[in-house]
Amino acid sequence: MSSPLLALAGVEKSYPHPAGPVAVLKGVDAAFAPGETVAVLGPSGSGKSTLLSLLAGLDRPSAGSIKMLGEETTGLSERALTALRSRHFGIVFQQFHLMAHLTAAENVALPLDLRGADGAPAAAAAALATVGLGHRVDHYPHQLSGGVCQRVAIARALVVRPRLLLADEPSGNLDARTGDQVMNLLFDLVAQSGTTLILVTHNEALAQRCGRRLVLRDGRLVDA
Ligand code: ADP
Repeated sequence: MSSPLLALAGVEKSYPHPAGPVAVLKGVDAAFAPGETVAVLGPSGSGKSTLLSLLAGLDRPSAGSIKMLGEETTGLSERALTALRSRHFGIVFQQFHLMAHLTAAENVALPLDLRGADGAPAAAAAALATVGLGHRVDHYPHQLSGGVCQRVAIARALVVRPRLLLADEPSGNLDARTGDQVMNLLFDLVAQSGTTLILVTHNEALAQRCGRRLVLRDGRLVDA
């Protein structure tokens, strides 16, 4: 494998519980190469969301190492971790997580605004055009259907040209037809941009569209 974009070694995660810590991840080893598409499967409760939070740097492991572009992230300050995340990662969630008080264009511009980047409005408009929403820039989330909201969220994730796109059941909240359309768009954009995709899902058919499939089993990540 070319030098990995993201590498995990011996990653563990436990949650506190009155009866003693509950171990969810018990030694995850994995490496993700630039440009590959990987599905992470596993039944409900197997730790998929926990793993995604760690990969995104939204939470920290109890033990082990997570390297992003060769840099150990586990010891980084909150500020440094946030900077690394906003620079290299895009995230798409099942529930879209758009800001209700911002228009589609303002939502998409937000990651660029947070970085203090120039030209955020033009880049946001271009990103919305890429997902077929050039005509919806001034609409607020409550004026948009679920499928359209998810397209806005995809534009927001990709506007920063991330090295890594993390997606958590992106079609899980959509009807089958809309979900298919959204996933077709997502896979097309990932292929065009060469972004690494880690797709967390319990949908086997969706997982088959990825180049590699892994499954969380007994707190470890193994080939599916
Ligand atoms: P999945 O995404 O595969 O459904 P999760 O990562 O959400 O799995 O959860 C794995 C296990 O960890 C579950 O048993 C869940 O109850 C537990 N868990 C997840 N988050 C927390 C938390 N913040 N505190 C305590 N337990 C948690």
